[in-house]
Amino acid sequence: MSSPNIYGLIGWPLGHSLSGKMHNAAFKALGINAEYKLLPLMPQYFDDFLTNLYNSGISGLNVTVPYKEKVLDLVELDTESLYLRQVKAVNTMVLSEGVWWGFNTDIPGFSRHLKENFKPWKKKIAILGAGGAARAVAYVLAKEKSAQISIFDIDKTKSAGIVEMINSLFPQFEIRAVDSVEKLEIKDKDLLVNATPIGLKSADPVLIKEEMLHKDLFVYDLIYNPAETKLLALAKKAGASTSNGLGMLLYQGMLSFEIWTGKKAPEEIMRKALLE
Ligand code: NAP
Repeated sequence: MSSPNIYGLIGWPLGHSLSGKMHNAAFKALGINAEYKLLPLMPQYFDDFLTNLYNSGISGLNVTVPYKEKVLDLVELDTESLYLRQVKAVNTMVLSEGVWWGFNTDIPGFSRHLKENFKPWKKKIAILGAGGAARAVAYVLAKEKSAQISIFDIDKTKSAGIVEMINSLFPQFEIRAVDSVEKLEIKDKDLLVNATPIGLKSADPVLIKEEMLHKDLFVYDLIYNPAETKLLALAKKAGASTSNGLGMLLYQGMLSFEIWTGKKAPEEIMRKALLE
C-alpha cells in the first residue's frame, strides 16, 4: 500500500486535542489512506516549517494558537475567503496543485452550532476573550445581525483589534470594547460567549459572578473539555441555557475534512469519536 496522505494540527503549546481521533475515525470509515497527526511547533521553528512545507509531504493542516494569523503570509485565499485578511485567522490549509490555500472553518462551525441552539438576530451579546476564536465569534454575530456586541479581554489591544475588524467589515454594527467583566452588563444581554481558555483547568477561576447571570441568558462556552466548565455549571444554577463547544469542534472539523478530501464528512462517525 502507498504511504498515507498526512494531515495534522500545528500550534504551540499543543495540549490535549481531540481532532486526531475525529479525523482518523473519518479517514478509516471512508477507506481513505490518510493519517492526522498532532504537530507541536515551537515558535522558533515556525519559519523553517513554512519554508519546508511544500516538500514536507503534508497534504493539509489545521492551525491553532499562535499561528492562525501568521499563516496568512503563506496561503492563497479564494474569492469567498478574502474577508479572512481582516478576520486575520486561518484554521485550515490545503495543498492543491502546488498551492497552499487557506480557510476558516471555525466561523461556519460556530455559526451552525450556535444557531441550532440560539437565534442571534437582534440579540445583545457579551464576549469574554478577544483571541483568534473570539474574532470568528464576533464575525458570525455581526454577520447574523445581532443587535450589539460588548467584548472584554485582559489585553485591551486585542479587544480593540476586534472592534476595528468589525467596524471595517460591518460599518453600521454596534460593537464596543469594555475594560472589565462588570461593564459587559451581562444582566442586559441575551448571549454570553466564553472565548477565553479560562475553564480548561480545574483550578481556573470563574470570570463571572453568579448575580450577573439570569434565566433568559444563553451561555456558550467554546471549551469542550471539560464538558461542563465552572462557568456552565454556574449558568445552569442561575437557570440560564447553556452549550459547550463540542458541536463547534465537530462542525469545523467536518468542514476541514471536506476541504481536504472533497468527500462528505461522516458526521456520526466523527461525533462518536469525539464523545468517546
Ligand atoms: P487565544 O487566541 O489565546 O485567545 C484567548 C484570549 O483570551 C486571549 O486574548 C487572552 O488574553 C484572553 N484571556 C485570557 N484570560 C483572560 C481573562 N481572565 N479575562 C479576559 N480575557 C482573557 O485562544 P483562542 O484560539 O481564541 O481560543 C480560546 C478558547 O476557545 C480556547 O479555550 C480554545 O480551546 C477554544 N476554542 C474552541 C474551539 C471549538 O471548536 N470549540 C475552536 C477554537 C477555540 P492573553 O493572550 O493576554 O492571555
